[in-house]
Amino acid sequence: MRLHCLGTVGYHPNDSRHTSCYLLPESGILLDAGTGVFRLPGLIQTDSLDILLSHAHLDHTFGLTFLLDVVFERPLRMIRIWGESEKIEAVRQHLFHELIFPAELSAQWIAIDELDQWEIGDAKITWRHQEHPGGSVAYRIEWPSGKRLVYATDTSGDTSEEHTAWSREADLLMHECYFRDASKQWAIKTGHAWTSRVAEVAGQSNPKKLLLTHINPLETAEDPIEIEKIRAKVNSEVILAEDGMAVDF
Ligand SMILES: [Zn+2]
Ligand SMILES: [Zn+2]
Repeated sequence: MRLHCLGTVGYHPNDSRHTSCYLLPESGILLDAGTGVFRLPGLIQTDSLDILLSHAHLDHTFGLTFLLDVVFERPLRMIRIWGESEKIEAVRQHLFHELIFPAELSAQWIAIDELDQWEIGDAKITWRHQEHPGGSVAYRIEWPSGKRLVYATDTSGDTSEEHTAWSREADLLMHECYFRDASKQWAIKTGHAWTSRVAEVAGQSNPKKLLLTHINPLETAEDPIEIEKIRAKVNSEVILAEDGMAVDF
């Protein structure tokens, strides 16, 4: 399986990164819809697109308003947008308010609240609540080949036994790492993860690959998160996500 990183920061874009958006082209699944969505057209391989929203914050939803241009360049038979019902409602009422975005988006909006699991093509999807202002959800995607991906963003990092069991031994764990350890207090205050917490979460769930996402856009150093601290604590291959990167797993 291949994952394309279209947007790898939280909050706002910077000179080298757009906000959260990742594509699984073989399955036609998009993880979140931040400003990286404009990069989609040349990468789509399917005639449908299923967008899994972690929550409604703008760095995960603003790119939904770019989809009209995406389908202009690369027509799609169907777009489905999945998320918790109150988040979907907020996006539809506010982001797609006629005074904010005056065009109609042709898409199906599907609430996941009552769904324990569902299928997108041959991929099986499950989800879990996470701690974050307003709440967010993590997704787990499993394919018949046995491949498994876990996407956990906008979370302070769940170290519970339940989360560890649910996310255990993924082929690819995508986990946010917005803050360095020095800013741990900010992380706790804003519902985000910091370097040592990510090392703890990944150390427990033991993925084959760990992709660090949702970087702080104010961090422009080559190593914005002290990645060696994580490498020292996990057996996984640890990768810092960058826009334009493709990750095979
Ligand atoms: Zn975010
Ligand atoms: Zn958020």
